[in-house]
Amino acid sequence: MFSEDLFEIKNSDLFIVDLMYAGLENMTMCPVYERIGFGNRAFVRKEMLEKLEKLTPFLRRQQLKLKICDAYRPPIAHEMLHDIVPIPVFFADSCQRSLHCRGAAIDCCLCYEDGRELVYPTRIDAYEKQYAEQLMSGNEENFSRHLQKARHDYQNPDMPDEIANRNQLKELMESIGLEAIPHEWWHYNLPNGADYPLIVWKKD
Ligand SMILES: [Zn+2]
Repeated sequence: MFSEDLFEIKNSDLFIVDLMYAGLENMTMCPVYERIGFGNRAFVRKEMLEKLEKLTPFLRRQQLKLKICDAYRPPIAHEMLHDIVPIPVFFADSCQRSLHCRGAAIDCCLCYEDGRELVYPTRIDAYEKQYAEQLMSGNEENFSRHLQKARHDYQNPDMPDEIANRNQLKELMESIGLEAIPHEWWHYNLPNGADYPLIVWKKD
């Protein structure tokens, strides 16, 4: 184990681990976690794991699962992501600022037992490849409009289920003591996340 401060969230009847940076479904289109040998493994601080375990009664009662799409992010992976798409709004240019690199944040959504995601106003990671290309060629308008949908205060009468599911997730995560951020409905972190030190990972 590379850090005694991190604990693994394993695939189970409650959690699905499907990290976006372990596959191609991310804005860089590069399976960065696989490339560095980290793989599809979700690690978090003990405090985070303990909070997530409190979801058990809710998930069982509702016959839902929590899908984890990112958790601890090795700083070296963060650097790679930033090198591929050097746009600060996508990846803070220093890992210092990412709570993922401290094991203090997760990206997640609820899904049914068969793994299908509930509907939400955007994909779990609204930072999609097409917008990276547009931004790099100087077109910010589409992306800014799209990012509004990722916000917790985004409202749309044509998306009642999407908005209700987003609100339900927020209520649920706050009920176990995690904090939302205004501009990414899928991101939750420990309230004092920035106080935790960065954790360095390297392949054995
Ligand atoms: Zn996040």
